[in-house]
Amino acid sequence: MIEEKRGLSHDRMPVIFAGHGSPMNAVQDNQWSRGFAQLRDYVPKPAAILAISAHWYVSGSYLTSNLRPPTIHDFGGFPQALYEIKYPAPGHPEFAESVRELLGKERVQLSEDWGLDHGIWSVLCWMYPEATVPVVQLSIDRNLDVTQHYKIGRSLAGLRDQNILIFTSGNIVHNLPDAFRQMRFGTAATPDWADRFDEAVKQILIAHDIEPLLSIYPDTADAQLAHPTPDHWLPLIYAAGAANKNDRVRFTSEGFDLGSLSMRNVIFG
Ligand code: ZN
Repeated sequence: MIEEKRGLSHDRMPVIFAGHGSPMNAVQDNQWSRGFAQLRDYVPKPAAILAISAHWYVSGSYLTSNLRPPTIHDFGGFPQALYEIKYPAPGHPEFAESVRELLGKERVQLSEDWGLDHGIWSVLCWMYPEATVPVVQLSIDRNLDVTQHYKIGRSLAGLRDQNILIFTSGNIVHNLPDAFRQMRFGTAATPDWADRFDEAVKQILIAHDIEPLLSIYPDTADAQLAHPTPDHWLPLIYAAGAANKNDRVRFTSEGFDLGSLSMRNVIFG
């Protein structure tokens, strides 16, 4: 396991959920990218990052075990500059193996078929531009139910005592068809359902109220509009699983991009 660094301002590493939004935030100086850069001020420098992104939502549980994880440009139709970005953070195969043991060797496999997707690097390129902190990414297994996702988050909580940053990335509201429609018509109005869902989740997080957090999606009409698919919702469930009632909950950015992408960031701890 990775050596614990002393002299930190926290005994336990906080947990981060980042609302990453458009990949363009990686190359634009805007309120969202400045918010990503500021996340760094809320955490001691980690020995390594365990990252969970909406964009590695697959059948099965995998951990990246590459020494040099490639930067994955998992999007289409954006300017060339975005495809040229590399985020050369190292991997950490021994750490990946230790997380695999933590979660159960029979249920999690190591993989060199993935790297770091834009849910991770579009935020970390601002937060840690020097790209020296090793990053291991854990997939989100699409076959699991929400309670199982939450339990994996809980299983990861102990890493916080070992100077590991659990960094998850999605969006609390993420309705791309609505965002694209708004782009076509040149509008960026936040629908009422988006505002309501974002606020409801905020209040649930402040209250550390796990039961409604695990049932709000997809049980309500607002939730179904907020997330036509679960991929951008589930990273928050992992972050909440790794948090506990004693953690302070802070929202370092909030608001909407393109009408219906909630850019709320959450720090637990
Ligand atoms: Zn995304």
